[in-house]
Amino acid sequence: MDVLGRVRLAQVAARAVGKASHVLERCVAYAHERKQFGQPIANFQMVQQMLADSAIEINAARWMVLHAAWLSDLGESHAAAARDAIAMVKVQASETLGRVVDRAVQIFGGMGYCKDLPVERWYRDARIYRIFDGTSEIHRGVIARSLGKRGAALFELNR
Ligand SMILES: Cc1cc2nc3c(=O)[nH]c(=O)nc-3n(C[C@H](O)[C@H](O)[C@H](O)COP(=O)(O)OP(=O)(O)OC[C@H]3O[C@@H](n4cnc5c(N)ncnc54)[C@H](O)[C@@H]3O)c2cc1C
Repeated sequence: MDVLGRVRLAQVAARAVGKASHVLERCVAYAHERKQFGQPIANFQMVQQMLADSAIEINAARWMVLHAAWLSDLGESHAAAARDAIAMVKVQASETLGRVVDRAVQIFGGMGYCKDLPVERWYRDARIYRIFDGTSEIHRGVIARSLGKRGAALFELNR
Protein backbone atom coordinates (compact mmCIF):
# COMPACT_ATOMS: atom_id res chain seq x y z
CA MET A 1 0.00 0.00 0.00
CA ASP A 2 2.92 2.35 0.75
CA VAL A 3 4.42 1.68 -2.68
CA LEU A 4 1.01 2.30 -4.29
CA GLY A 5 0.82 5.57 -2.37
CA ARG A 6 4.19 6.77 -3.64
CA VAL A 7 3.27 5.80 -7.20
CA ARG A 8 -0.02 7.66 -6.81
CA LEU A 9 1.82 10.73 -5.58
CA ALA A 10 4.29 10.69 -8.47
CA GLN A 11 2.20 9.42 -11.34
CA VAL A 12 -1.10 11.07 -10.59
CA ALA A 13 -0.68 14.09 -8.29
CA ALA A 14 2.70 15.36 -9.49
CA ARG A 15 1.81 14.62 -13.10
CA ALA A 16 -1.50 16.48 -12.74
CA VAL A 17 0.40 19.51 -11.42
CA GLY A 18 2.82 19.30 -14.36
CA LYS A 19 0.02 19.02 -16.89
CA ALA A 20 -1.93 21.86 -15.31
CA SER A 21 1.20 24.05 -15.35
CA HIS A 22 1.70 23.38 -19.05
CA VAL A 23 -1.95 24.13 -19.80
CA LEU A 24 -1.70 27.41 -17.88
CA GLU A 25 1.45 28.41 -19.80
CA ARG A 26 -0.41 27.82 -23.07
CA CYS A 27 -3.41 29.80 -21.79
CA VAL A 28 -1.25 32.77 -20.84
CA ALA A 29 0.46 32.75 -24.25
CA TYR A 30 -2.87 32.51 -26.09
CA ALA A 31 -4.50 35.24 -23.99
CA HIS A 32 -1.70 37.63 -24.96
CA GLU A 33 -1.80 36.64 -28.62
CA ARG A 34 -5.57 36.51 -29.28
CA LYS A 35 -7.09 39.92 -29.98
CA GLN A 36 -10.76 40.85 -29.66
CA PHE A 37 -12.25 44.35 -29.61
CA GLY A 38 -8.83 45.71 -30.65
CA GLN A 39 -6.83 44.33 -27.76
CA PRO A 40 -5.42 41.07 -26.38
CA ILE A 41 -8.03 39.12 -24.42
CA ALA A 42 -5.45 39.08 -21.57
CA ASN A 43 -6.46 42.71 -20.94
CA PHE A 44 -9.97 41.66 -19.92
CA GLN A 45 -10.34 41.25 -16.16
CA MET A 46 -12.57 38.19 -16.41
CA VAL A 47 -9.88 36.42 -18.45
CA GLN A 48 -7.25 37.60 -15.95
CA GLN A 49 -9.32 36.08 -13.15
CA MET A 50 -9.38 32.69 -14.85
CA LEU A 51 -5.60 32.80 -15.32
CA ALA A 52 -4.98 33.94 -11.73
CA ASP A 53 -7.31 31.30 -10.26
CA SER A 54 -5.49 28.57 -12.18
CA ALA A 55 -2.10 29.85 -10.98
CA ILE A 56 -3.29 29.96 -7.34
CA GLU A 57 -4.76 26.47 -7.44
CA ILE A 58 -1.76 24.94 -9.22
CA ASN A 59 0.59 26.50 -6.68
CA ALA A 60 -1.47 25.09 -3.79
CA ALA A 61 -1.51 21.61 -5.34
CA ARG A 62 2.25 21.82 -6.02
CA TRP A 63 3.01 22.56 -2.38
CA MET A 64 0.74 19.71 -1.32
CA VAL A 65 2.74 17.34 -3.57
CA LEU A 66 6.01 18.52 -2.00
CA HIS A 67 4.55 18.21 1.52
CA ALA A 68 3.28 14.68 0.89
CA ALA A 69 6.66 13.70 -0.63
CA TRP A 70 8.45 15.09 2.42
CA LEU A 71 6.17 13.15 4.80
CA SER A 72 6.67 10.04 2.71
CA ASP A 73 10.45 10.42 2.91
CA LEU A 74 10.25 10.53 6.72
CA GLY A 75 9.59 6.79 6.59
CA GLU A 76 7.63 4.30 8.67
CA SER A 77 7.24 6.61 11.70
CA HIS A 78 5.09 8.96 9.60
CA ALA A 79 3.45 6.44 7.29
CA ALA A 80 -0.11 7.28 8.41
CA ALA A 81 0.41 11.01 7.94
CA ALA A 82 1.94 10.36 4.52
CA ARG A 83 -1.01 8.18 3.48
CA ASP A 84 -3.48 10.90 4.45
CA ALA A 85 -1.44 13.60 2.72
CA ILE A 86 -1.27 11.52 -0.47
CA ALA A 87 -5.05 10.91 -0.40
CA MET A 88 -5.59 14.67 -0.03
CA VAL A 89 -3.23 15.70 -2.79
CA LYS A 90 -4.57 13.03 -5.14
CA VAL A 91 -8.00 14.69 -4.86
CA GLN A 92 -6.67 18.24 -4.87
CA ALA A 93 -4.29 17.88 -7.84
CA SER A 94 -6.69 15.90 -10.03
CA GLU A 95 -9.58 18.30 -9.36
CA THR A 96 -7.28 21.30 -9.89
CA LEU A 97 -6.28 19.88 -13.27
CA GLY A 98 -9.96 19.52 -14.14
CA ARG A 99 -10.69 23.15 -13.29
CA VAL A 100 -7.58 24.40 -15.11
CA VAL A 101 -8.43 22.57 -18.36
CA ASP A 102 -12.04 23.71 -18.10
CA ARG A 103 -10.85 27.33 -17.91
CA ALA A 104 -8.47 26.61 -20.81
CA VAL A 105 -11.41 25.62 -23.04
CA GLN A 106 -13.13 28.85 -22.01
CA ILE A 107 -10.08 31.05 -22.65
CA PHE A 108 -9.50 29.48 -26.08
CA GLY A 109 -13.19 29.98 -26.89
CA GLY A 110 -14.42 28.07 -29.96
CA MET A 111 -10.89 26.93 -30.72
CA GLY A 112 -10.82 25.28 -27.29
CA TYR A 113 -13.70 23.07 -28.35
CA CYS A 114 -12.49 22.19 -31.88
CA LYS A 115 -10.05 19.40 -32.62
CA ASP A 116 -7.67 21.72 -34.51
CA LEU A 117 -5.89 22.49 -31.22
CA PRO A 118 -4.97 20.08 -28.39
CA VAL A 119 -7.12 21.90 -25.81
CA GLU A 120 -10.18 19.64 -26.11
CA ARG A 121 -7.84 16.64 -25.80
CA TRP A 122 -6.39 18.08 -22.57
CA TYR A 123 -9.96 18.45 -21.34
CA ARG A 124 -10.85 14.82 -22.08
CA ASP A 125 -7.58 13.43 -20.74
CA ALA A 126 -7.87 15.35 -17.48
CA ARG A 127 -11.13 13.59 -16.62
CA ILE A 128 -9.51 10.23 -15.89
CA TYR A 129 -7.35 11.76 -13.12
CA ARG A 130 -10.38 11.86 -10.83
CA ILE A 131 -11.07 8.19 -11.50
CA PHE A 132 -7.90 6.12 -11.73
CA ASP A 133 -5.66 5.25 -8.79
CA GLY A 134 -8.63 5.57 -6.46
CA THR A 135 -11.59 7.77 -7.30
CA SER A 136 -12.04 11.12 -5.55
CA GLU A 137 -14.87 9.52 -3.54
CA ILE A 138 -12.63 6.69 -2.29
CA HIS A 139 -9.89 9.14 -1.22
CA ARG A 140 -12.42 11.41 0.47
CA GLY A 141 -13.58 8.32 2.37
CA VAL A 142 -9.97 7.62 3.47
CA ILE A 143 -9.57 11.21 4.66
CA ALA A 144 -12.93 11.19 6.49
CA ARG A 145 -12.05 7.95 8.28
CA SER A 146 -8.71 9.40 9.40
CA LEU A 147 -10.49 12.53 10.64
CA GLY A 148 -12.88 10.30 12.58
CA LYS A 149 -9.97 8.44 14.20
CA ARG A 150 -7.57 11.32 14.79
CA GLY A 151 -9.55 14.52 14.36
CA ALA A 152 -7.49 17.67 13.98
CA ALA A 153 -4.39 15.65 14.84
CA LEU A 154 -4.51 14.66 11.17
CA PHE A 155 -2.41 17.75 10.59
CA GLU A 156 0.19 17.00 13.28
CA LEU A 157 3.35 15.05 12.71
CA ASN A 158 3.55 13.15 16.00
CA ARG A 159 0.78 10.62 15.73
C1 LIG B 1 -7.62 4.90 -18.64
C2 LIG B 1 -7.62 4.07 -17.38
C3 LIG B 1 -6.41 3.65 -16.85
C4 LIG B 1 -6.39 2.86 -15.70
N1 LIG B 1 -5.19 2.44 -15.22
C5 LIG B 1 -5.15 1.62 -14.16
C6 LIG B 1 -3.91 1.09 -13.67
O1 LIG B 1 -2.84 1.39 -14.23
N2 LIG B 1 -3.91 0.27 -12.60
C7 LIG B 1 -5.09 -0.08 -11.97
O2 LIG B 1 -5.05 -0.84 -10.99
N3 LIG B 1 -6.28 0.38 -12.42
C8 LIG B 1 -6.34 1.22 -13.49
N4 LIG B 1 -7.56 1.69 -13.94
C9 LIG B 1 -8.76 1.29 -13.22
C10 LIG B 1 -9.21 2.42 -12.31
O3 LIG B 1 -8.35 2.50 -11.19
C11 LIG B 1 -10.67 2.16 -11.91
O4 LIG B 1 -11.49 2.45 -13.04
C12 LIG B 1 -11.08 3.05 -10.73
O5 LIG B 1 -10.43 2.63 -9.54
C13 LIG B 1 -12.59 3.02 -10.48
O6 LIG B 1 -13.05 1.71 -10.38
P1 LIG B 1 -14.31 1.25 -11.26
O7 LIG B 1 -14.07 1.71 -12.67
O8 LIG B 1 -14.52 -0.19 -11.02
O9 LIG B 1 -15.50 2.12 -10.70
P2 LIG B 1 -16.44 1.75 -9.49
O10 LIG B 1 -15.63 1.22 -8.34
O11 LIG B 1 -17.58 0.92 -9.97
O12 LIG B 1 -16.96 3.20 -9.10
C14 LIG B 1 -18.11 3.81 -9.71
C15 LIG B 1 -18.52 4.99 -8.86
O13 LIG B 1 -18.88 4.56 -7.54
C16 LIG B 1 -18.11 5.25 -6.58
N5 LIG B 1 -17.78 4.36 -5.46
C17 LIG B 1 -17.36 3.07 -5.52
N6 LIG B 1 -17.11 2.61 -4.28
C18 LIG B 1 -17.38 3.62 -3.43
C19 LIG B 1 -17.31 3.77 -2.01
N7 LIG B 1 -16.90 2.79 -1.22
N8 LIG B 1 -17.65 4.95 -1.48
C20 LIG B 1 -18.06 5.99 -2.28
N9 LIG B 1 -18.16 5.91 -3.60
C21 LIG B 1 -17.81 4.74 -4.18
C22 LIG B 1 -16.83 5.65 -7.32
O14 LIG B 1 -16.18 6.74 -6.69
C23 LIG B 1 -17.39 6.01 -8.68
O15 LIG B 1 -17.95 7.31 -8.63
C24 LIG B 1 -7.61 2.50 -15.08
C25 LIG B 1 -8.82 2.93 -15.61
C26 LIG B 1 -8.83 3.71 -16.75
C27 LIG B 1 -10.18 4.14 -17.31
